Amino acid sequence: MHLHTLLAQAGSRRDPKTGAISMPIHLSSAFQHPALGQSTGFDYSRTSNPTRQALEQTLSKLEGGAGASAFSSGMAALDAVLRLFSPGDKLVVTEDLYGGSFRLFEKFGRPQQLDFIYVDGSDTEAVAKALQTPKVKGLFVEVLTNPLLKVADLDALGELARAHEVLFIVDNTFLTPVWCRPMEHGADITLYSATKYLGGHHDMLAGLAVARTGDLAEKIAFIQNAAGAVLGAFDSWLLLRSLKTLPLRLKKHEENALAVANFLSGHAGIKKLCYPGLPSDPGHQRLGRLSLGYGAMLSFEVESSAKVESILKSVKVFLFAESLGGAESLVTYPLIQTHADIDPQTRERIGLTDRLLRLSIGLEDATDLMEDLAEVLK
Ligand SMILES: *Cc1c(COP(=O)(O)O)cnc(C)c1O
Repeated sequence: MHLHTLLAQAGSRRDPKTGAISMPIHLSSAFQHPALGQSTGFDYSRTSNPTRQALEQTLSKLEGGAGASAFSSGMAALDAVLRLFSPGDKLVVTEDLYGGSFRLFEKFGRPQQLDFIYVDGSDTEAVAKALQTPKVKGLFVEVLTNPLLKVADLDALGELARAHEVLFIVDNTFLTPVWCRPMEHGADITLYSATKYLGGHHDMLAGLAVARTGDLAEKIAFIQNAAGAVLGAFDSWLLLRSLKTLPLRLKKHEENALAVANFLSGHAGIKKLCYPGLPSDPGHQRLGRLSLGYGAMLSFEVESSAKVESILKSVKVFLFAESLGGAESLVTYPLIQTHADIDPQTRERIGLTDRLLRLSIGLEDATDLMEDLAEVLK
């Protein structure tokens, strides 16, 4: 079945008893056993819950994986995946990445004797070189980096990961399976902060880990059951509901993003603009090969940090907040809000300056967004 059909019918046809079209929300912590040694397939909701399972099976199908686990947040999903590694293991990771992932690596992973080698994930040569370090067991990249929107060459990285027999983990939060399916490019595990586009309404937190093989899926499910950071039944249903409109939302997000990017690219007050949907962007062609869409995240530099302050104070359509992927357009100041944990030298080197702003383009009328920006950039 086509992806859009799977999405439109997410959670449907799963309740033969009543024929409910919308997946019922199973608010039950435990499930009654018919007799000793017999089970309905469910016993305790930390292990498995019917509503969560409908979501997990839908995601696994969308990705072309063998199984998926739904977590209480994107960070909980990444945390579970980190637990697949053992003390002494090293991971090669993108340097320009979500600040919370960096914090988890440094403040949680390191004390567990994991080591992280930071490289520019869009520089395949640099990744190849880092993978030659002894004891590297994993490669972690964001397809589109946050906040600088650099594009990783998944096909080349997938081949490298296979050659070095390391686990290839891809955070695909910015693109979703509607646009890009990392497993088709060699990923072993795809991660999502479903808080973003998959949820799409700025009203919930969720994370997903999809595994390519049954063995990996089982290991992640084991960690999830043991550690317990599961997604609740109600939030699982919210996410199933959101999935139904995902392709429609993404189309509008991208249309608006392209309009805003074109507007900003011609604006005198903008120093540097990162949006891979523009043909002039260094990642444009590469992303075109990997993804059906270019996303709706963009970042840009203004002349001074003082200008940043005035923009954040005076926006009227954009909301000043730190998330992305929802109906409402948001403006974020990465230096303070999302990437404060990254050390100053790294920030400077990768171009994460005190003049950089990040936009998540929402579903409003693009004219209102552009007028808002025109006004604050004056
Ligand atoms: C938000 C985000 C995360 C973390 O997800 P939460 O749901 O906030 O825990 C991880 N990776 C990326 C790319 C993100 O944008």
